[in-house]
Amino acid sequence: MKQSGECPKCGSRNVSCKDLYIPMYPYRALVVARQTTPLFSESSPLDVYICGECGFLEMYARTPSQLIPKPKSSE
Ligand SMILES: [Zn+2]
Repeated sequence: MKQSGECPKCGSRNVSCKDLYIPMYPYRALVVARQTTPLFSESSPLDVYICGECGFLEMYARTPSQLIPKPKSSE
């Protein structure tokens, strides 16, 4: 959907991510977070793609490396 610009459910090309957000204080964006200590968490805003025909949603973390560190190479 992000790369193809086409809805995988209904095949429509009426897909958009621009200017879409879930109005939640304080982020003004939908976020995903990983708890790193009891008090702190790492978070990333989400890019939400929505099909204008069937309403299917697809979400991508903007900074996934903040949530899931890359595995160390075993060399
Ligand atoms: Zn669709």
